[in-house]
Amino acid sequence: MDILTKKVKGTEDILPSESYKWQFVEELMREEAQKNGFKEIRTPVFEHTVLFNRSVGETTDVVQKEMYTFDTKGGESITLRPEGTAGAARAYLEHAVYNEGLPVKVYYQLTCYRYEKAQAGRQREFHQFGMETYGAADAGADAEMICAANNIFERLGLENIRLEINSIGCKTCRKDYTNALKEYFGEHKASLCETCLSRLDRNPMRILDCKNESCKKIARNAPVVLDYICSDCSEHFDKVKTFLNAADVEFEVNPTIVRGLDYYTKTVFEFVTDSIGAQGTVCGGGRYDGLIEELGGQPTPALGFAMGIERLMMVMKAENIELPEEDTCDIYIAALGEDAMIRAFGLVQDLRNSSITAETDIMGRGLRAQMKYANKIKAKYSAVIGDDDLKNNSVKIKNMTTGETVDAPLDDFVEVFSDIILNNAVGALNDLIGTDADMSFSDFLNRIN
Ligand code: ATP
Ligand code: MG
Repeated sequence: MDILTKKVKGTEDILPSESYKWQFVEELMREEAQKNGFKEIRTPVFEHTVLFNRSVGETTDVVQKEMYTFDTKGGESITLRPEGTAGAARAYLEHAVYNEGLPVKVYYQLTCYRYEKAQAGRQREFHQFGMETYGAADAGADAEMICAANNIFERLGLENIRLEINSIGCKTCRKDYTNALKEYFGEHKASLCETCLSRLDRNPMRILDCKNESCKKIARNAPVVLDYICSDCSEHFDKVKTFLNAADVEFEVNPTIVRGLDYYTKTVFEFVTDSIGAQGTVCGGGRYDGLIEELGGQPTPALGFAMGIERLMMVMKAENIELPEEDTCDIYIAALGEDAMIRAFGLVQDLRNSSITAETDIMGRGLRAQMKYANKIKAKYSAVIGDDDLKNNSVKIKNMTTGETVDAPLDDFVEVFSDIILNNAVGALNDLIGTDADMSFSDFLNRIN
């Protein structure tokens, strides 16, 4: 029966002891997106297969090798989303979101599914955070997108991650480049894998993204796209660089980046690290000016990026990034006897309704075991209610760190305890301000968050 307690290959569980780290990272990303005026979009886990064939591209690794595709009982071909851009673009068109005014800026946090060889940094179910902008052709949109991703890494404190950018041109200038690639790879047919041989005629640029060692070796000396882009694309690229400089974002131009999906045009970029082994691309994105039209919409410039949250967490671990400790329970109310337990239960509900995290016994444990548990969950305060306390309408609130106690009337328990918490918060704030009078407003906000 092992199969009942073994996860499927390439999937991971995020356990209760780890989930707060995910929540912290996800919250930071959400905040960054919202600061930039992006709103969340949530789309289904599965879509019609043709959507991905069309948008990701028939000749890509994702479509050719990695999709989870199946027929439903009704005979429809369905695919688990391998990425988030296609679904977001489909929803943008289906609901005519462009009518709400351009640009439309959305972000998402979702799971993706790719049938890949499972290894460190490469899972079959993984998480992406992504941002997409529709309707903006200006280089400012490219730079805004890149800066937002960069801010996420900076705010997390990552050091060993670099931004690489490139331009892969538009449809017009791509023609010359494609011909140059056909000619080059045509001379090296013997070294290409079978998939790449079939790509040679249809989409030779995909060969540059092949993971096969022999293809990679040949690709190293292939013509580079930057030498073929038209003046319009070249100007756009220069503008992106100017904006990035203006925002003090460091970057390198890497003329070999082409990205693994077909829909990209003009700017492409990656955030890459050396600290987590072979799967070092944490974030990838770029412009995809042809996609919306390809899906049946009006010609609409668009762009986006997606970052892999698992890979990001791996870099954070490798760089020993310290996250704020998980917040613990404000108060544990222990109870002795049936009546006290009922009172404690009511109190805990009242505390929770005042936004205080509170717990009481739900195990029928004795007092010692209850207090042991309070210590284990690192409750900041505790209170013990017995029959006498009920009679006297009085209870002691104990600070679990200092051992100090405060008497509180049971009838006013929530008010008294709220005051204690509030005073602590004010004290902590005063300490913070007192220690660093020159602190910037954003640092201040970051530290009290
Ligand atoms: P790679 O070249 O590593 O296969 P990709 O070009 O296929 O990446 P994208 O489609 O651009 O990746 O997806 C964006 C990000 O999602 C990647 O940079 C990576 O961080 C993450 N990612 C992609 N595939 C996986 C996977 N199988 N497992 C975990 N994360 C992934
Ligand atoms: Mg891939």
